[in-house]
Amino acid sequence: MEPVISAQNLNYYFGSGDLRKQALFDVNLEIQAGEIIIMTGPSGSGKTTLLTLFGGLRSAQEGSLKILGEELRGAGKSQLASLRKHIGYIFQAHNLMTFLTAQRNVRMALELHDRFLEQDLNAIATQMLESVGLGDRVQYYPENLSGGQKQRVAIARALVTQPKIVLADEPTAALDKKSGREVVELMQKLAKEQRCTILIVTHDNRILDIADRIVYMEDGRLVSQDKEAALALHP
Ligand code: ADP
Ligand code: MG
Repeated sequence: MEPVISAQNLNYYFGSGDLRKQALFDVNLEIQAGEIIIMTGPSGSGKTTLLTLFGGLRSAQEGSLKILGEELRGAGKSQLASLRKHIGYIFQAHNLMTFLTAQRNVRMALELHDRFLEQDLNAIATQMLESVGLGDRVQYYPENLSGGQKQRVAIARALVTQPKIVLADEPTAALDKKSGREVVELMQKLAKEQRCTILIVTHDNRILDIADRIVYMEDGRLVSQDKEAALALHP
């Protein structure tokens, strides 16, 4: 089977001319459908840069990057935009719309997809919120939810369209230990149910065990893809 994400000799540069700075060096990585990958490594090592390339949030410059079978090197805006419909994003700060209820926040993701147009969006959004344990918070605004609850709304929003790939950048950074754990376990459960691929960037050593594979970045290079080695670095 073709990998869902395949990077080969991927380089990435910020800036141009004298200010050009290489952020990724010769990254090689293949991720299969349904895999849960955790990416870890020091601050500034290139994790977010790599994640945003995988998510079609920036265009690959050098080497090869195939996402869901599509080559993204030199991809234009419209190619990236249509790819993004198949990807769910979860960020450190939940990025919910503060003026919309939990249900409306989740609904918004559905509204971007033609295939849901004829369906009962409120019912789908509500059901998704129930599956993340927020059935009694459907009409709440973000300001009246705890950090963990907000992040669960963000998960509901990312997964409600059943994306093939979910990318999460430090999703537990703003949460206490227990809520952080709950949030990743929830992502893991939904991913297995939907057979979606999940890539989580994290500094949070307490959640490394949920991964099928741990990828370790340092100075823009992918230095290890081995769970045992990464766990040894962060016992
Ligand atoms: P991480 O997520 O691992 O902390 P990043 O991917 O954010 O690392 O950053 C990798 C490197 O690229 C760092 O040296 C950072 O300063 C640089 N970088 C990140 N974003 C930009 C940008 N928009 N412009 C210039 N340099 C950037
Ligand atoms: Mg980062």
